[in-house]
Amino acid sequence: MALIRAEQLVKTYRAGEVDVPAIRGVDFTIDAKSFVVFVGPSGSGKTTLLNMIGCLDHPTSGRLTVIDTDVSTLDRTAAANFRGRHIGFIFQDFNLVPVLTVYENIEYPLIMVQDWPPAKRRAQVMRLIDAVGMSGQEHKRPDQISGGQKQRVAVARALATNPHLVLADEPTANLDHDTAYRIINLMKKMRDELGTTFVFSTHDPKIMAEAEVVYTLEDGRLREAETAKPKVVAHA
Ligand code: ADP
Ligand code: MG
Repeated sequence: MALIRAEQLVKTYRAGEVDVPAIRGVDFTIDAKSFVVFVGPSGSGKTTLLNMIGCLDHPTSGRLTVIDTDVSTLDRTAAANFRGRHIGFIFQDFNLVPVLTVYENIEYPLIMVQDWPPAKRRAQVMRLIDAVGMSGQEHKRPDQISGGQKQRVAVARALATNPHLVLADEPTANLDHDTAYRIINLMKKMRDELGTTFVFSTHDPKIMAEAEVVYTLEDGRLREAETAKPKVVAHA
């Protein structure tokens, strides 16, 4: 089943008097529970595309369907509600709240985005802290942990509300290669355990090799999808 479908998707920015084409008519589908990467050099349109999928920005034309919803036409409030219900975000600079502990950073969306009761909140946060390998570190603040640990916390925070989809724009750009590799594999493990669809971007070819489906962007256009590693198909 397609979780995301883009049809002739176009995004053109207006910069003063000039039009800057960022996405020039792309078509793709992303299946539920898949692990997909968009690769391409700086300026190829990765952030623009992820922002549209994440309902942070509108397409200029074309159609974009995310979880059975035509998101190209959502207004600000509807987009915010849609994000809060269905999508988690991971950022390249981690974006943890510096005055909150690891525990509180992961709990944050369960208070501010969705209104979970305290006992259910606690169980979810502790489960995720364990899942991302941060047990025993929950009372530390972001400045007391490493970059890789910060990104582990950000992965847990993105998963807190049990979203269908997690979007990660260059989540490994500020990490050394070994740490980056571990974060990608943590994301994949969470996909395997929870069935969450992960879509991320990178310009690092080594990181890209860890994805199952690779979409290559070049100057706002998409090359044919490559399946990096064949999925194992279960037979009844
Ligand atoms: P990437 O994430 O792959 O580096 P971007 O999506 O950020 O690519 O950018 C794609 C193109 O759109 C680039 O030419 C960039 O300069 C342009 N662009 C991105 N954001 C804006 C903006 N807010 N206003 C004008 N041009 C933009
Ligand atoms: Mg970018």
